[in-house]
Amino acid sequence: MRTGLYINNEWRRPASGATLEVINPATEEVLACVAVAEETDVNAAVAAARSCFESDEWRALSPRRRGALLHRAGELLAARRNEMAELESRQNGKPLFESKIDAAMTVQVLQYYAGWADKVAGSVIPVDGTDFVYTTREPVGVVAAIVPWNFPLNLASWKFAPALAAGCTVVLKPASETPLTALAMAEIMEEAGFPPGAFNVITGGGSTTGAMLVRHPDVDKIAFTGSTAVGKEIMRQAADTLKRVTLELGGKSPNIIFADADLKSAVRGAQSGIFYGKGEVCAAGSRLLVEKSVHDQVIEQLAARARKLVPGDPFDSNTRLGAIASKQRQDAVLSYIEAGKGEATLVAGGNATTVNGKGYFIEATVFDDARPGMRIVDEEIFGPVLSVITFDGLEEGVQLANQTVYGLAAGIWTRDIQKAFEAARGIRAGTVWVNTYNLYDAAAPFGGFKDSGFGRDLGREALHGYTEAKTVWMGLQ
Ligand code: NAP
Ligand code: MG
Repeated sequence: MRTGLYINNEWRRPASGATLEVINPATEEVLACVAVAEETDVNAAVAAARSCFESDEWRALSPRRRGALLHRAGELLAARRNEMAELESRQNGKPLFESKIDAAMTVQVLQYYAGWADKVAGSVIPVDGTDFVYTTREPVGVVAAIVPWNFPLNLASWKFAPALAAGCTVVLKPASETPLTALAMAEIMEEAGFPPGAFNVITGGGSTTGAMLVRHPDVDKIAFTGSTAVGKEIMRQAADTLKRVTLELGGKSPNIIFADADLKSAVRGAQSGIFYGKGEVCAAGSRLLVEKSVHDQVIEQLAARARKLVPGDPFDSNTRLGAIASKQRQDAVLSYIEAGKGEATLVAGGNATTVNGKGYFIEATVFDDARPGMRIVDEEIFGPVLSVITFDGLEEGVQLANQTVYGLAAGIWTRDIQKAFEAARGIRAGTVWVNTYNLYDAAAPFGGFKDSGFGRDLGREALHGYTEAKTVWMGLQ
């Protein structure tokens, strides 16, 4: 297992020798001690990325060849996907079957952007007069990617794959809880043939190592996924060096069940919308809006399903609810559950639990009679806790859906196509799922409105965040 800093295609010990522990949240065992990058190390990583970016070798590498390297990285990852999935489950606590989906999507993301590398083109612009005007899309430069612990490698690939495809070089800082798959990915990138400095991985605390990247004058862009509070701080800190910033932040996404929906699939969608990934999913459908006339049926089915969803060993193939990512996260979720008990009606779960006497697990929890103004409705819990709100009619449904500072995603369950269109148009969110939930594809842009951030990951859209437009005027008399 790699635990050093990966800088300029070399494994280095941190200048200070400091390390941080990575803990398996399902067993409470220490998995590894990884390096803590301090100023000297951060400077070295940025210098490596900068000098690669400016090198003749990198400039001479054709976009098609860069694409081929990314494609090769995808193949190498596919060959190691089981090992990678196991490592992800160990450090994050998620069921192995989910980690396998994450690994498969990461391969897809690498190969999708491999295909884009030689298709990032400008255009010829018709202007008044005889001059010939064209645009090119040039790489923005050195990108620092800072990512959270919920989909550690997959979310990292959403940043580094389009960045490399566009011709940028990358310094990746994974979350302190889950750095191990990013470090393993460095081995793959080197084997794929990326030159020294193109892809670097440094580990360490967010407010220290991460903040140094954000302030570093030789970093051109920060691609961040994480909490809204840290996103705002990054924007402030990035202002002095006028860094480009894209932010994928939190959410409190509404999942709306209309009375005419296929209730069985709607309830199944509501369940996976909040309990997949232990609810540690930025787009989790954490506010379930249920139309009044079907409220009792929905609550009955949902509570029955939640009670059956018993937390288990992530490596047991039957487990569908793993361990919360850390003790600190578990405490934070439990404090929301305590608040919820005082303001709404608990209909399922509500307790911390262990598996084989260990680990930071929380039961699948459902609160009924929730309303805006309650903490469990207004704030992002980021755990397996669902708040059910009752509404009456399309207008009130959409109004409640939008009654949040966030705008990441939303779900709509209805058989009425007109209603689906109207609700999809009315909801202010970056992704709307109709009669489905939590679907992602490398080609489909993903990101937020409002306090959920700006800029998009995935799809062609993400490439805009890693390029600058250059306009060239050729004077022709
Ligand atoms: P977080 O505290 O914001 O951390 C995210 C990353 O930022 C980590 O690598 C963290 O390092 C680093 N960081 C923390 N403070 C920093 C600072 N001052 N400067 C630079 N980097 C800093 O987020 P979290 O609470 O761990 O993650 C959960 C949040 O992420 C939720 O709010 C969730 O909604 C959001 N999220 C959003 C998406 C999306 O696509 N929109 C996806 C997943 C998660 P350390 O780990 O060392 O603290
Ligand atoms: Mg954190």
